[in-house]
Amino acid sequence: MNNLVKNYIDGQWVEWHGDSIDVHEAATGDVIAKVPSSERLVMEEAIEAASHAFEDWSETPLAKRIKVLEQLHEGLKARAPEIAETVAREVGMPIKLATGIQAGLPATVTGSYLKMLPDFPFTEQVGNSEVQKVPVGVVGCITPWNYPLHQVILKVVPALAAGCTIVLKPSEIAPMSAYILADILDGTDLPKGVFNMVCGLGQEVGDTLIKHPDVQMVSFTGSTMTGSLIIQAAADDFKRFALEMGGKSASVILPDADLKTAVKGTVNNCLLNSGQTCTALTRMLVPADRHDEACQLAAEAVAKMTPGNPLTETTRLGPLASAKQRDKVVDYIKLGIQEGATLVAGGPDAPEGCEQGYFVQATVFGNVKPDSHIAQEEIFGPVLCVIPYKDEKDAIRIANGTDYGLSGAVWSADQAKAKAVASKLRTGQVFVNGGAFNPLAPFGGFGHSGIGREFGKWGLEEFLEVRALQL
Ligand code: NAD
Repeated sequence: MNNLVKNYIDGQWVEWHGDSIDVHEAATGDVIAKVPSSERLVMEEAIEAASHAFEDWSETPLAKRIKVLEQLHEGLKARAPEIAETVAREVGMPIKLATGIQAGLPATVTGSYLKMLPDFPFTEQVGNSEVQKVPVGVVGCITPWNYPLHQVILKVVPALAAGCTIVLKPSEIAPMSAYILADILDGTDLPKGVFNMVCGLGQEVGDTLIKHPDVQMVSFTGSTMTGSLIIQAAADDFKRFALEMGGKSASVILPDADLKTAVKGTVNNCLLNSGQTCTALTRMLVPADRHDEACQLAAEAVAKMTPGNPLTETTRLGPLASAKQRDKVVDYIKLGIQEGATLVAGGPDAPEGCEQGYFVQATVFGNVKPDSHIAQEEIFGPVLCVIPYKDEKDAIRIANGTDYGLSGAVWSADQAKAKAVASKLRTGQVFVNGGAFNPLAPFGGFGHSGIGREFGKWGLEEFLEVRALQL
């Protein structure tokens, strides 16, 4: 068992002697670590450290900030196997995928900022004005459990690059990879107080962070419900915020698409990380006359997702991250049956041989009504809803018919047609005929999915204020 009952404040590990939070192995339910359930006072100390460090760090030359990020980049690469195993255990993603995504993406994102930073226009001349982009101040970063290090990196790297100082409150459900990050940063030339990390419950230390007057910005990834609390807290002192939240993304399969490819692409995307992905394509929209064929193909694709321990190389579907999340998903599966959707594959029982831990069967519902609960609400588990549509107009209406707008997909034999339909989707990104994920492109949501963007120059600009000198 890992004893992580400590916080990282002002360049030092500070032991915590109060209550602790158990971290569970998703595949077994065993306790694998303990982290602090810190009190508000500890968060206040971390914010004070970040406030003190701000003046110097904000004036540190870019070259020095880049050097620290290079050291971080090296550390992330060197410790990738440890990161992958840690996240596979605490979240449940199969090890092969965890190696590529949970450990690989943080290094890739850091590398992408290192490439971009030397040429980023921190000052621009506009007529007689010099426009300066300056760090926003102390940033509170609050993150969820599904891609626990990746989501931290998307905030910490651009915030440090911008010259901000940071207090991170990682997820209490999957906090262990954040401890590896803090350890890596501790070994770099980062001055003390620039990065601080306090672990604990959202309603306790998270609440202190979002309401503290010395925090100029909150960068949050998590549920829409918590995002709404952050907007309300920010209203009191005009704090800036960037919110990355939930989704209910549609995969629109047009009548001329290769159905087999489109269904396979949609199922694989939907089941990634056992459906615990904010961008998951959880609604598959198919022409009504091809509904049954699409369901059959989805059932075949799902049958290939061997469930099992994420540390076993052959596993394709791991458990969910917590008992609470498993119970929530099982309740949604029962609700789908009650709502009259056709259960095509899976169901509410744990997969055979996976009764321990937090496993849920990969489940496909057919004939799902667009306005039903399972088609409207984020389930965050391995559940695909197949929704029949009449014509293209109907498909676009259904795709845009939720409160969310984070991701989407369009499939067609005609790329121009697919692009035209993609351009009508009210969502932050659309995968056209399986286009590749691009870490330099902006990522974020319309509507209840978020405010602001991460990745690339858009992710950096979130942490910058703009000042114009009239010369
Ligand atoms: P959550 O909102 O419950 O928790 C996220 C973080 O907020 C945690 O660190 C938690 O401790 C903290 N928190 C909770 N209550 C708080 C409060 N009152 N004040 C301050 N902080 C508080 O979300 P979760 O269940 O951990 O994550 C799942 C959600 O995250 C899903 O809705 C998913 O779609 C979303 N998500 C979005 C993206 C994206 O980029 N759009 C990425 C990943 C996950």
